[in-house]
Amino acid sequence: MSSQNSSAMPAITGPVLITGGAGYIGSHTTRLLRQLKVPTVVLDNLSAGHQRFVQGPFEKADLGDCAALDRIFSTHKPKAVVHFAAKTYVGESVTEPSKYYLENVHFTWNLLEAMRAHGCRDIVFSSSCATYGNPQRIPIDEAHPQLPISPYGRTKLHMEHMLEDFSRAYGLRFAALRYFNAAGASQSGELGEIHAPETHLIPLVLFAALGLRQKISVFGNDYDTPDGTCIRDYVHVEDLARAHVQALGKLQDGIARLACNLGTGTGFSVLEVIDACQRVSGRPVHVEIAPRREGDPPRLISGGSAALDLLGWAPQRARLDDIVGDAWRFHLAEAQSAKKSS
Ligand code: UDP
Repeated sequence: MSSQNSSAMPAITGPVLITGGAGYIGSHTTRLLRQLKVPTVVLDNLSAGHQRFVQGPFEKADLGDCAALDRIFSTHKPKAVVHFAAKTYVGESVTEPSKYYLENVHFTWNLLEAMRAHGCRDIVFSSSCATYGNPQRIPIDEAHPQLPISPYGRTKLHMEHMLEDFSRAYGLRFAALRYFNAAGASQSGELGEIHAPETHLIPLVLFAALGLRQKISVFGNDYDTPDGTCIRDYVHVEDLARAHVQALGKLQDGIARLACNLGTGTGFSVLEVIDACQRVSGRPVHVEIAPRREGDPPRLISGGSAALDLLGWAPQRARLDDIVGDAWRFHLAEAQSAKKSS
């Protein structure tokens, strides 16, 4: 097994249904569950996920298709669900909120109804630090007011509320995991971050290092931070995967409801990330200062101790150079294989 600490992992009763299991965090979580010999079934419509990231039994289906959900629950009889499938672009959520309310909120309702109909009561849910909105204090602990400023953040908060209400009324057990900035790739090199379009800082800087882009634009260098650029808390995708498995273990132990932040508690500026990418890749990157991106708070850093207290989770791969290094090896291999096949 890779660096995942299997000795600390709970025994999970499967099968576990992973919605969005062909995506970035979903595929890493599926991989970890399968390494732990937990039966899985991936549900993904492949609108954003990747067929080649799918591991184990797979149902290509859409959460909008209630008949498909009914069939999948009847066939696979999942004991628990890890729910990643969602739309994730903050900017798009502003221009096309309807898509976000449909696919994030309504489709989650479809999923919860299928769980209810089939007696499946445990769900781990991908929430987001976007549910907090503009930070009133740093670091952001779990008691921070949840006042999201984008439709994306609002849909994630609606989903948390739906889980809360279903839990109290119907006995659903849930864990809402509020991620900060997911980053990195599997240390084995086979899974990583591929979004179309790619908007995230680390892959974009690495694309520039690979010569796939001319430059990286820094969105604002006049923030009230030490170097003027925005600070974020980057958390390794394998650490995130481990948190999902630990959360599932807690639900199966009988905990009914939990919400926690997943971050490292350390922030890095955009310029520090660019430096790390240059250092790790050994390649220079052309940097241009661009205007601020709307809706970017200067600092987002995870605080609170719920992940440690409730899950026993702490990040194991939190060094920026390790996170960036894993991402670099993945993107370098992707670029080399694209070159070979062209
Ligand atoms: N960012 C940037 N240039 C880019 C992409 C991102 O300067 O091309 C900045 C962005 O403004 C933010 C940070 O990098 O401060 C992380 O952005 P990302 O989109 O990766 O994650 P977010 O924090 O928006 O979830």
